[in-house]
Amino acid sequence: MNTFNLKEVNFSSKILCALFGHKITTTRTVTNHFKEYKCSICGLEMTNDIQGHKIFLTPELKDINEILNRLYIKKHYPV
Ligand SMILES: [Zn+2]
Repeated sequence: MNTFNLKEVNFSSKILCALFGHKITTTRTVTNHFKEYKCSICGLEMTNDIQGHKIFLTPELKDINEILNRLYIKKHYPV
């Protein structure tokens, strides 16, 4: 029953976002150009594309960001 309740909450928050827009907060700085964002209401995750537009954060993009972030840290904060 818990999963059903979670779905209900998610569904109503999605309506809120559809009406009032997502409340986006930055969750992670991947590089100077790429960031990850999350809506604090419905939990939707987003990132940037190369042009800087916000796009949905798919598992594939998450993997790419992970690699970019590792390279970025290595370059800027060498051990
Ligand atoms: Zn939202």
